[in-house]
Amino acid sequence: MHDFQSILDEVMAAVRPVVGQGRVANYIPALASVDPSRFGMALATVDGEVFGVGDWRMPFSVQSISKVFALALTLSRDGDAIWRRVGKEPSGNPFNSLVQLEYEQGVPRNPFINAGALVMTDRLLSLTGDSRGVVREFLRAESGNPSVDFDPVVAASEAEHGHRNAALAHFMKSYGNIENPVPLVLEHYFWQCSLAMSCADLARACGFLARHGQVSSGTRLLSRSQAKQVNAVMLTCGTYDAAGEFAYRVGLPCKSGVGGGIIAVIPNRCGLCVWGPGLDSHGNSVAGVEALDRFTTLTGLSVF
Ligand code: GLN
Repeated sequence: MHDFQSILDEVMAAVRPVVGQGRVANYIPALASVDPSRFGMALATVDGEVFGVGDWRMPFSVQSISKVFALALTLSRDGDAIWRRVGKEPSGNPFNSLVQLEYEQGVPRNPFINAGALVMTDRLLSLTGDSRGVVREFLRAESGNPSVDFDPVVAASEAEHGHRNAALAHFMKSYGNIENPVPLVLEHYFWQCSLAMSCADLARACGFLARHGQVSSGTRLLSRSQAKQVNAVMLTCGTYDAAGEFAYRVGLPCKSGVGGGIIAVIPNRCGLCVWGPGLDSHGNSVAGVEALDRFTTLTGLSVF
């Protein structure tokens, strides 16, 4: 058995030199004020033990990490039908890029780039009437933290500066790939991205992917096969145009967000979350990539 607490301590000591490197996301002004010297990491085992280091209990903006939960919740209700509206191939382009959409008739490459996530929000909205509420309730239940909530300042800041996302949504609407009014889809998407959670909350919340689709109550959100599909899409698309580098260095299904968080799943073992606000040019946390690389190297735990 691994001594996860000492491993996390060792990882934190090793990544200290890169904490603070990179650039805090500033295209959403409310995120630009986050202290770049923060660093936290948490691990939650499938049987409920939680370990952590640094700022692992401090909430941060989950941003695109929320896209994993939106995908899982949509897939659980809609099944394979979702793959008619979104692909499952890496895009090789930045997360907010517009170029591929025209060549590919308004069908985004995958559910983890912004265009694909907007389609998931649209579908979840049609299926439930309250996409952002459904995502928040799920995250409260799976993190075991009933105070998980949206950050209205971040949501408003993103709405004010969300021209690219608005362009993506309108463009897809012109191809008939958005069912609801664009302003409504954008609102639910921005609020979902604004959810504030800690590393501890997120490590617990992704446990259902380590338990092959079984949620904390013991019931199932996803079939075994669907959980495998979500993990596979995380591995190939979860860190955008750096997914190849992540598979090479980390070897785990991961999903990053521009708040500086990254979640990772080790099937049968645990959920992980690391947070460091400084980002690289792909929008992934510099300290986070380094920490996950160290973690899998030290423990030998990976899907390969
Ligand atoms: N809310 C952000 C956006 O839509 C999410 C991007 C991200 O975390 N990569 O631009």
